Amino acid sequence: MAIQSKRATLDELYEEWEREEISPFFPVIEENNGNSVTTDRHQNLLMFGSCDYLGLSQDPALKAGAIRGIERYGTNTYGAQLLCGHTRIHHEVEERLTALSPAHSAILFPSGMAANLALISAMASSEDVILNDRTDHVSIFMGSTLSGAEMRTFPHNNMAKLESLLRQYGEKRRRIIIVDGLYSADGDFAPLDRIAELAAEYDARILVDEAHSFGIVGPNGLGVAEHFGVLDQVDAIVGTMSKALGSVGGFVLARKPLERELRYMAPSYTSSRGSAPGVAGATLASLSELATRGPELRQRLADNVALILGRLRKAGIDLMKTRSHIVPVLIRDERKTVEVANWLMEHGVFTAAFVYPHVPMGTGRLRVGVTSRHTTEECERLVELLVEARDKFSF
Ligand code: PMP
Repeated sequence: MAIQSKRATLDELYEEWEREEISPFFPVIEENNGNSVTTDRHQNLLMFGSCDYLGLSQDPALKAGAIRGIERYGTNTYGAQLLCGHTRIHHEVEERLTALSPAHSAILFPSGMAANLALISAMASSEDVILNDRTDHVSIFMGSTLSGAEMRTFPHNNMAKLESLLRQYGEKRRRIIIVDGLYSADGDFAPLDRIAELAAEYDARILVDEAHSFGIVGPNGLGVAEHFGVLDQVDAIVGTMSKALGSVGGFVLARKPLERELRYMAPSYTSSRGSAPGVAGATLASLSELATRGPELRQRLADNVALILGRLRKAGIDLMKTRSHIVPVLIRDERKTVEVANWLMEHGVFTAAFVYPHVPMGTGRLRVGVTSRHTTEECERLVELLVEARDKFSF
Protein backbone atom coordinates (compact mmCIF):
# COMPACT_ATOMS: atom_id res chain seq x y z
CA MET A 1 0.00 0.00 0.00
CA ALA A 2 2.71 2.43 1.01
CA ILE A 3 4.69 1.57 -2.12
CA GLN A 4 1.66 2.05 -4.36
CA SER A 5 0.91 5.51 -3.02
CA LYS A 6 4.56 6.48 -3.34
CA ARG A 7 4.51 5.31 -6.96
CA ALA A 8 1.38 7.38 -7.66
CA THR A 9 3.07 10.47 -6.26
CA LEU A 10 6.26 9.89 -8.20
CA ASP A 11 4.30 9.49 -11.42
CA GLU A 12 2.29 12.61 -10.73
CA LEU A 13 5.39 14.67 -10.13
CA TYR A 14 8.08 13.37 -12.43
CA GLU A 15 5.88 12.34 -15.36
CA GLU A 16 4.20 15.72 -15.37
CA TRP A 17 7.56 17.52 -15.39
CA GLU A 18 8.87 15.33 -18.18
CA ARG A 19 5.70 15.85 -20.22
CA GLU A 20 5.93 19.61 -19.80
CA GLU A 21 9.67 19.51 -20.48
CA ILE A 22 10.50 21.30 -17.26
CA SER A 23 12.35 18.45 -15.54
CA PRO A 24 15.74 19.77 -14.37
CA PHE A 25 16.97 16.20 -13.77
CA PHE A 26 19.57 14.23 -15.74
CA PRO A 27 21.07 17.20 -17.58
CA VAL A 28 23.59 15.92 -20.10
CA ILE A 29 26.91 17.53 -19.21
CA GLU A 30 28.68 18.22 -22.48
CA GLU A 31 31.69 20.11 -21.14
CA ASN A 32 33.25 20.96 -17.83
CA ASN A 33 35.32 24.13 -17.70
CA GLY A 34 36.24 24.22 -14.04
CA ASN A 35 33.56 26.27 -12.31
CA SER A 36 31.18 26.22 -15.27
CA VAL A 37 29.53 23.47 -17.27
CA THR A 38 27.75 23.33 -20.60
CA THR A 39 24.76 21.00 -20.71
CA ASP A 40 22.60 19.81 -23.61
CA ARG A 41 20.29 22.74 -22.79
CA HIS A 42 22.42 25.56 -21.40
CA GLN A 43 25.82 27.05 -22.13
CA ASN A 44 28.37 27.92 -19.44
CA LEU A 45 26.34 27.43 -16.27
CA LEU A 46 28.10 28.47 -13.11
CA MET A 47 28.26 25.18 -11.19
CA PHE A 48 26.70 25.58 -7.75
CA GLY A 49 25.10 22.13 -7.65
CA SER A 50 27.98 19.80 -6.79
CA CYS A 51 29.44 18.21 -3.65
CA ASP A 52 32.94 18.91 -4.92
CA TYR A 53 33.39 21.00 -1.77
CA LEU A 54 37.15 21.54 -2.06
CA GLY A 55 37.08 21.83 -5.86
CA LEU A 56 39.49 18.90 -6.14
CA SER A 57 37.70 17.01 -8.94
CA GLN A 58 39.12 19.51 -11.45
CA ASP A 59 42.57 19.76 -9.84
CA PRO A 60 45.58 19.06 -12.10
CA ALA A 61 47.19 16.96 -9.34
CA LEU A 62 44.22 14.56 -9.27
CA LYS A 63 44.08 14.34 -13.07
CA ALA A 64 47.80 13.51 -13.08
CA GLY A 65 47.25 10.90 -10.32
CA ALA A 66 44.50 9.26 -12.39
CA ILE A 67 46.72 9.15 -15.48
CA ARG A 68 49.64 7.69 -13.48
CA GLY A 69 47.34 4.96 -12.16
CA ILE A 70 46.17 4.03 -15.65
CA GLU A 71 49.68 4.11 -17.11
CA ARG A 72 50.98 1.85 -14.35
CA TYR A 73 48.14 -0.67 -14.10
CA GLY A 74 45.78 -0.21 -17.07
CA THR A 75 42.11 0.65 -16.96
CA ASN A 76 41.10 -2.21 -14.69
CA THR A 77 42.56 -4.54 -12.09
CA TYR A 78 42.64 -8.32 -12.43
CA GLY A 79 39.93 -9.06 -9.89
CA ALA A 80 38.43 -8.30 -6.48
CA GLN A 81 40.85 -6.78 -3.95
CA LEU A 82 40.96 -10.01 -1.92
CA LEU A 83 42.48 -11.87 -4.88
CA CYS A 84 44.30 -9.71 -7.40
CA GLY A 85 42.74 -6.25 -7.47
CA HIS A 86 44.71 -4.61 -4.68
CA THR A 87 47.48 -2.58 -6.35
CA ARG A 88 50.21 -0.62 -4.59
CA ILE A 89 47.97 2.44 -5.11
CA HIS A 90 44.99 0.84 -3.32
CA HIS A 91 47.37 -0.25 -0.57
CA GLU A 92 48.76 3.26 -0.13
CA VAL A 93 45.28 4.79 -0.03
CA GLU A 94 44.39 2.43 2.83
CA GLU A 95 47.66 3.15 4.63
CA ARG A 96 47.20 6.92 4.36
CA LEU A 97 43.63 6.72 5.66
CA THR A 98 44.68 4.42 8.52
CA ALA A 99 47.40 6.88 9.53
CA LEU A 100 44.73 9.55 10.04
CA SER A 101 43.04 7.79 12.96
CA PRO A 102 45.25 5.55 15.13
CA ALA A 103 42.23 3.87 16.75
CA HIS A 104 40.99 2.55 13.39
CA SER A 105 42.13 0.77 10.22
CA ALA A 106 40.94 1.70 6.74
CA ILE A 107 39.37 -0.47 4.06
CA LEU A 108 38.71 0.88 0.60
CA PHE A 109 35.34 0.14 -1.04
CA PRO A 110 34.08 0.85 -4.57
CA SER A 111 31.60 3.44 -3.20
CA GLY A 112 30.25 4.92 0.02
CA MET A 113 27.03 3.02 -0.62
CA ALA A 114 28.97 -0.29 -0.80
CA ALA A 115 30.84 0.64 2.39
CA ASN A 116 27.62 1.23 4.34
CA LEU A 117 26.03 -1.99 3.09
CA ALA A 118 29.11 -4.01 4.08
CA LEU A 119 29.83 -2.36 7.40
CA ILE A 120 26.32 -2.36 8.83
CA SER A 121 25.56 -5.91 7.79
CA ALA A 122 28.87 -7.00 9.38
CA MET A 123 28.29 -5.06 12.61
CA ALA A 124 24.75 -6.24 13.32
CA SER A 125 22.62 -9.37 13.13
CA SER A 126 19.23 -10.62 14.28
CA GLU A 127 20.20 -10.54 17.98
CA ASP A 128 20.90 -6.79 17.81
CA VAL A 129 18.99 -3.54 17.53
CA ILE A 130 19.98 -0.68 15.23
CA LEU A 131 18.92 2.81 16.26
CA ASN A 132 18.78 5.08 13.22
CA ASP A 133 18.18 8.82 13.05
CA ARG A 134 15.06 9.17 10.90
CA THR A 135 16.93 11.30 8.34
CA ASP A 136 19.91 8.96 7.95
CA HIS A 137 21.14 8.41 4.40
CA VAL A 138 19.28 5.77 2.39
CA SER A 139 22.41 3.55 2.22
CA ILE A 140 22.35 3.33 6.03
CA PHE A 141 18.76 2.11 5.97
CA MET A 142 19.63 -0.38 3.23
CA GLY A 143 22.59 -1.74 5.24
CA SER A 144 20.47 -1.87 8.38
CA THR A 145 17.75 -3.86 6.62
CA LEU A 146 20.34 -6.22 5.13
CA SER A 147 21.81 -6.94 8.59
CA GLY A 148 18.60 -8.60 9.82
CA ALA A 149 18.74 -6.63 13.09
CA GLU A 150 15.65 -5.08 14.63
CA MET A 151 15.48 -1.45 13.46
CA ARG A 152 14.08 1.52 15.37
CA THR A 153 14.27 5.17 14.33
CA PHE A 154 14.36 8.28 16.49
CA PRO A 155 13.20 11.74 15.34
CA HIS A 156 16.02 13.80 13.86
CA ASN A 157 18.65 14.56 16.51
CA ASN A 158 16.19 13.80 19.33
CA MET A 159 18.47 12.59 22.12
CA ALA A 160 15.68 12.04 24.64
CA LYS A 161 14.04 9.53 22.30
CA LEU A 162 17.38 7.90 21.56
CA GLU A 163 17.96 7.47 25.28
CA SER A 164 14.55 5.93 25.82
CA LEU A 165 15.21 3.44 23.00
CA LEU A 166 18.61 2.55 24.48
CA ARG A 167 16.90 1.87 27.81
CA GLN A 168 14.11 -0.12 26.17
CA TYR A 169 16.56 -2.37 24.29
CA GLY A 170 18.96 -3.02 27.18
CA GLU A 171 18.43 -6.78 26.78
CA LYS A 172 19.64 -6.95 23.17
CA ARG A 173 23.09 -8.38 22.51
CA ARG A 174 24.19 -5.13 20.85
CA ARG A 175 22.72 -1.65 20.53
CA ILE A 176 24.13 0.14 17.48
CA ILE A 177 23.53 3.83 16.97
CA ILE A 178 23.94 4.94 13.35
CA VAL A 179 23.94 8.58 12.30
CA ASP A 180 25.16 10.83 9.52
CA GLY A 181 27.82 13.17 10.94
CA LEU A 182 26.54 15.99 8.75
CA TYR A 183 23.03 15.74 7.34
CA SER A 184 23.38 16.62 3.69
CA ALA A 185 19.84 17.77 2.98
CA ASP A 186 19.60 20.07 6.03
CA GLY A 187 23.23 21.03 6.74
CA ASP A 188 23.19 20.31 10.49
CA PHE A 189 25.39 18.00 12.60
CA ALA A 190 24.55 14.92 14.68
CA PRO A 191 25.19 15.82 18.37
CA LEU A 192 27.98 13.28 18.63
CA ASP A 193 29.18 14.57 22.01
CA ARG A 194 25.84 13.56 23.55
CA ILE A 195 25.62 10.38 21.47
CA ALA A 196 29.05 9.31 22.79
CA GLU A 197 27.88 9.89 26.40
CA LEU A 198 24.73 7.87 25.82
CA ALA A 199 26.68 5.08 24.11
CA ALA A 200 29.05 4.84 27.09
CA GLU A 201 26.15 4.82 29.55
CA TYR A 202 24.09 2.19 27.72
CA ASP A 203 26.94 0.12 26.27
CA ALA A 204 26.10 0.91 22.65
CA ARG A 205 28.22 1.02 19.52
CA ILE A 206 28.43 4.05 17.26
CA LEU A 207 28.73 4.20 13.49
CA VAL A 208 29.01 7.61 11.81
CA ASP A 209 28.63 8.30 8.11
CA GLU A 210 31.00 11.21 7.42
CA ALA A 211 30.29 11.38 3.67
CA HIS A 212 29.72 15.15 3.64
CA SER A 213 32.08 16.08 6.48
CA PHE A 214 35.25 14.09 5.79
CA GLY A 215 37.93 16.41 4.42
CA ILE A 216 36.21 19.50 5.77
CA VAL A 217 34.85 19.40 9.33
CA GLY A 218 37.06 18.98 12.42
CA PRO A 219 40.56 20.27 13.25
CA ASN A 220 42.16 17.87 10.74
CA GLY A 221 39.16 17.50 8.46
CA LEU A 222 38.30 14.01 9.74
CA GLY A 223 34.64 14.84 10.25
CA VAL A 224 32.02 15.60 12.86
CA ALA A 225 33.27 12.94 15.33
CA GLU A 226 36.65 14.66 15.30
CA HIS A 227 34.94 18.07 15.62
CA PHE A 228 33.29 16.89 18.87
CA GLY A 229 36.50 15.18 20.07
CA VAL A 230 34.91 11.71 20.17
CA LEU A 231 36.58 9.97 17.22
CA ASP A 232 38.19 7.38 19.53
CA GLN A 233 34.78 6.46 20.97
CA VAL A 234 33.30 5.77 17.55
CA ASP A 235 33.42 2.12 16.43
CA ALA A 236 33.51 2.90 12.75
CA ILE A 237 33.20 5.77 10.34
CA VAL A 238 32.19 5.56 6.72
CA GLY A 239 33.46 8.04 4.18
CA THR A 240 33.21 8.60 0.48
CA MET A 241 35.76 9.87 -2.01
CA SER A 242 32.95 11.32 -4.12
CA LYS A 243 32.51 14.61 -2.23
CA ALA A 244 35.41 16.61 -0.73
CA LEU A 245 38.03 14.22 -2.10
CA GLY A 246 37.00 14.85 -5.71
CA SER A 247 37.33 11.19 -6.72
CA VAL A 248 35.08 8.10 -6.52
CA GLY A 249 35.00 5.29 -3.95
CA GLY A 250 34.17 4.72 -0.32
CA PHE A 251 36.00 3.68 2.80
CA VAL A 252 35.47 2.42 6.30
CA LEU A 253 37.68 3.29 9.25
CA ALA A 254 36.92 0.49 11.71
CA ARG A 255 38.37 -1.01 14.87
CA LYS A 256 40.67 -3.98 14.33
CA PRO A 257 38.45 -7.12 14.69
CA LEU A 258 35.74 -5.49 12.62
CA GLU A 259 38.26 -4.45 9.98
CA ARG A 260 39.44 -8.07 9.58
CA GLU A 261 35.88 -9.34 9.33
CA LEU A 262 35.09 -6.82 6.60
CA ARG A 263 38.27 -7.57 4.68
CA TYR A 264 37.58 -11.31 4.49
CA MET A 265 33.81 -11.51 4.66
CA ALA A 266 32.06 -8.36 3.35
CA PRO A 267 30.61 -9.21 -0.08
CA SER A 268 30.98 -5.69 -1.45
CA TYR A 269 34.73 -5.93 -0.68
CA THR A 270 35.49 -9.58 -1.38
CA SER A 271 33.15 -10.16 -4.30
CA SER A 272 32.93 -6.86 -6.12
CA ARG A 273 35.62 -5.10 -8.10
CA GLY A 274 37.42 -2.32 -6.19
CA SER A 275 38.19 1.08 -7.68
CA ALA A 276 39.84 1.10 -11.10
CA PRO A 277 43.53 2.09 -10.93
CA GLY A 278 42.87 5.54 -12.41
CA VAL A 279 40.25 6.24 -9.77
CA ALA A 280 42.48 4.96 -6.96
CA GLY A 281 45.30 7.11 -8.39
CA ALA A 282 43.10 10.22 -8.22
CA THR A 283 42.16 9.35 -4.62
CA LEU A 284 45.80 8.95 -3.61
CA ALA A 285 46.66 12.31 -5.17
CA SER A 286 43.68 13.85 -3.40
CA LEU A 287 44.88 12.59 -0.01
CA SER A 288 48.30 14.16 -0.74
CA GLU A 289 46.67 17.46 -1.66
CA LEU A 290 44.58 17.39 1.51
CA ALA A 291 47.68 16.72 3.61
CA THR A 292 49.43 19.80 2.23
CA ARG A 293 46.69 22.20 1.10
CA GLY A 294 43.78 21.02 3.29
CA PRO A 295 43.79 23.94 5.75
CA GLU A 296 44.02 26.53 2.95
CA LEU A 297 41.23 24.89 0.91
CA ARG A 298 39.01 24.60 4.00
CA GLN A 299 39.57 28.27 4.79
CA ARG A 300 38.62 29.34 1.26
CA LEU A 301 35.47 27.22 1.47
CA ALA A 302 34.61 28.70 4.88
CA ASP A 303 35.04 32.25 3.52
CA ASN A 304 32.77 31.56 0.54
CA VAL A 305 30.16 29.89 2.74
CA ALA A 306 30.24 32.78 5.24
CA LEU A 307 29.68 35.29 2.45
CA ILE A 308 26.77 33.35 0.94
CA LEU A 309 25.05 32.36 4.20
CA GLY A 310 25.45 35.89 5.62
CA ARG A 311 23.92 37.60 2.60
CA LEU A 312 21.11 35.09 2.08
CA ARG A 313 20.14 35.22 5.77
CA LYS A 314 20.15 39.02 5.66
CA ALA A 315 17.81 38.84 2.65
CA GLY A 316 15.45 36.68 4.75
CA ILE A 317 15.87 33.46 2.75
CA ASP A 318 15.10 30.30 4.77
CA LEU A 319 18.31 28.27 5.05
CA MET A 320 16.88 25.66 7.43
CA LYS A 321 19.17 24.66 10.30
CA THR A 322 22.41 24.67 8.42
CA ARG A 323 25.59 25.21 10.39
CA SER A 324 27.95 23.88 7.75
CA HIS A 325 29.16 24.33 4.20
CA ILE A 326 25.86 22.87 2.92
CA VAL A 327 23.48 25.62 1.87
CA PRO A 328 19.86 24.41 1.64
CA VAL A 329 17.46 27.04 0.26
CA LEU A 330 13.99 26.01 1.41
CA ILE A 331 11.24 26.49 -1.18
CA ARG A 332 8.77 23.80 0.04
CA ASP A 333 6.44 23.21 -2.92
CA GLU A 334 7.88 20.57 -5.30
CA ARG A 335 6.83 22.22 -8.53
CA LYS A 336 8.03 25.63 -7.43
CA THR A 337 11.41 24.13 -6.49
CA VAL A 338 11.74 22.75 -10.01
CA GLU A 339 10.63 26.05 -11.54
CA VAL A 340 13.17 28.02 -9.52
CA ALA A 341 15.97 25.58 -10.46
CA ASN A 342 15.04 26.02 -14.14
CA TRP A 343 14.85 29.80 -13.85
CA LEU A 344 18.30 29.87 -12.26
CA MET A 345 19.65 27.75 -15.12
CA GLU A 346 18.12 30.11 -17.66
CA HIS A 347 20.02 32.88 -15.84
CA GLY A 348 23.31 31.01 -15.87
CA VAL A 349 23.48 29.18 -12.51
CA PHE A 350 23.20 25.44 -11.82
CA THR A 351 21.93 24.39 -8.37
CA ALA A 352 20.67 20.97 -7.25
CA ALA A 353 16.88 20.63 -6.90
CA PHE A 354 16.01 18.31 -3.99
CA VAL A 355 12.41 17.10 -3.97
CA TYR A 356 10.39 14.08 -2.82
CA PRO A 357 11.29 11.24 -2.35
CA HIS A 358 14.81 12.46 -1.53
CA VAL A 359 13.41 14.88 1.06
CA PRO A 360 9.96 14.74 2.71
CA MET A 361 6.99 15.95 0.65
CA GLY A 362 6.48 19.70 0.99
CA THR A 363 10.10 20.43 1.92
CA GLY A 364 11.53 20.90 -1.59
CA ARG A 365 14.75 22.85 -1.59
CA LEU A 366 17.73 23.83 -3.65
CA ARG A 367 20.99 22.46 -2.38
CA VAL A 368 23.62 25.02 -3.23
CA GLY A 369 27.03 23.40 -3.53
CA VAL A 370 29.60 26.02 -2.60
CA THR A 371 33.24 25.10 -3.21
CA SER A 372 36.62 26.56 -2.33
CA ARG A 373 37.21 27.20 -6.05
CA HIS A 374 34.38 29.73 -6.39
CA THR A 375 35.50 33.33 -6.65
CA THR A 376 33.94 36.12 -4.60
CA GLU A 377 32.30 37.46 -7.78
CA GLU A 378 30.75 34.05 -8.49
CA CYS A 379 29.39 33.83 -4.95
CA GLU A 380 27.97 37.35 -5.24
CA ARG A 381 26.30 36.48 -8.57
CA LEU A 382 24.67 33.44 -6.95
CA VAL A 383 23.30 35.52 -4.06
CA GLU A 384 22.01 38.23 -6.42
CA LEU A 385 20.11 35.66 -8.50
CA LEU A 386 18.71 33.78 -5.49
CA VAL A 387 17.35 37.01 -4.04
CA GLU A 388 15.80 37.90 -7.41
CA ALA A 389 14.30 34.40 -7.64
CA ARG A 390 12.86 34.68 -4.10
CA ASP A 391 11.13 37.96 -5.05
CA LYS A 392 9.83 36.54 -8.33
CA PHE A 393 8.62 33.16 -7.01
CA SER A 394 7.81 34.23 -3.39
CA PHE A 395 9.47 31.54 -1.33
N1 PMP B 1 26.36 8.45 2.65
C1 PMP B 1 25.87 9.67 2.46
C2 PMP B 1 25.45 10.49 3.65
C3 PMP B 1 25.76 10.19 1.16
O1 PMP B 1 25.25 11.42 0.97
C4 PMP B 1 26.16 9.39 0.07
C5 PMP B 1 26.10 9.88 -1.37
N2 PMP B 1 25.13 10.76 -1.67
C6 PMP B 1 26.65 8.11 0.32
C7 PMP B 1 26.76 7.67 1.62
C8 PMP B 1 27.08 7.21 -0.81
O2 PMP B 1 28.33 7.60 -1.28
P1 PMP B 1 28.82 7.13 -2.73
O3 PMP B 1 28.39 8.20 -3.70
O4 PMP B 1 30.31 7.06 -2.61
O5 PMP B 1 28.19 5.81 -2.99
